[in-house]
Amino acid sequence: MHINSQFDSGNITCLNNTNPQDIKLCINQDYNSDYMQWFYFRATGYKGIDAKFVITNASKTSYTKGWEDYKAVASYDKENWFRVDTSYDGTQLTISHEPTFDSVYYAYFAPYTMERHHHLISNTQQSPIVAYECLGQTIDGQDMDLLVVGDAKTAKKSAWVIARQHPGETMAEWFAEGLLQRLTDLNDPTSRALLRNTVFYVVPNMNPDGTKRGHLRTNAMGANLNREWQSPSMDNSPEVFLVLNKMNQVGVDFCLDVHGDESLPFNFIAGAEGVPNWNERLLELQNRYKENLQRLSPDFQTTKGYPVNKPGEANLKICTNYIVQTFQCLAMTLEMPFKDTKDIPNEVCGWSPERCRKLGAANIDAIYQTLDM
Ligand code: ZN
Repeated sequence: MHINSQFDSGNITCLNNTNPQDIKLCINQDYNSDYMQWFYFRATGYKGIDAKFVITNASKTSYTKGWEDYKAVASYDKENWFRVDTSYDGTQLTISHEPTFDSVYYAYFAPYTMERHHHLISNTQQSPIVAYECLGQTIDGQDMDLLVVGDAKTAKKSAWVIARQHPGETMAEWFAEGLLQRLTDLNDPTSRALLRNTVFYVVPNMNPDGTKRGHLRTNAMGANLNREWQSPSMDNSPEVFLVLNKMNQVGVDFCLDVHGDESLPFNFIAGAEGVPNWNERLLELQNRYKENLQRLSPDFQTTKGYPVNKPGEANLKICTNYIVQTFQCLAMTLEMPFKDTKDIPNEVCGWSPERCRKLGAANIDAIYQTLDM
């Protein structure tokens, strides 16, 4: 019997696995930072055994509220992820599962590895309406991938969608995958109409190094990228530096920054109400967008979410706030749950890759229906 996480996006340390009913594990911190919550490991040799995987440092993780009413995901083939019995006693998180096969994977949420990311990029670039651009390299030497959908020469508007500044929030890249599928569907009338005047700049993974290293929140320097937008640097946050550089070149008329929230069992949007240049027009645009999205996808709602910043109190180091303040356009942070949605739960999968993809696709409609404003 073995526990292993030495692979793309893996994260766990096995402390003791002599007793299958009390396999002691702990989550590793992100490099050079205190953040930790993401786990992804493989267990082999447990077929037919009622095993208990105990994460002993669960109460020391970054978002302990994330463990309440939470169920871990498991998969035999790394394609089909299902929820398994999980309990939190205030100290330890226990995953109880009797595997049907000898090799099984467990994770905080369905992983989106760098390998899968490369498939997404190489497949999507083959669309006749897509151009690939490498923006530069990360600290670990990985490429920062940008997909440009539509005609940058003729488009009047530049729409940006960036995902996964926080690498453990894998739902963000599943979302980006669904959005890209919809946008590149040459038979989709909404996407085609949208692309007549708008070009999309999509960064499906803002944090390749954190992804590969199995981080929750930071890059290879230990930097939280969503606090780097006011003064990014090639030394500390090349991911933001390179993307912002491109944004300054081509402009931003719309920006969606896609994330996951550990605690809240809802999909919601957080705005930039607290920035100095916030105004009625931006509020109207944001409300229209949220109302549209809620009508289009019952998985999205507008009543639960983060508290709204008071005027002037926004942190301009955060992407959405920085973009609104700098480009005076509609920019929003979209959050999805790690758990499930409370409104339309799915017992088997919880919030899942397929549901992320559908929400990503629904945002194409929401953008289209907000375009006239
Ligand atoms: Zn996040």
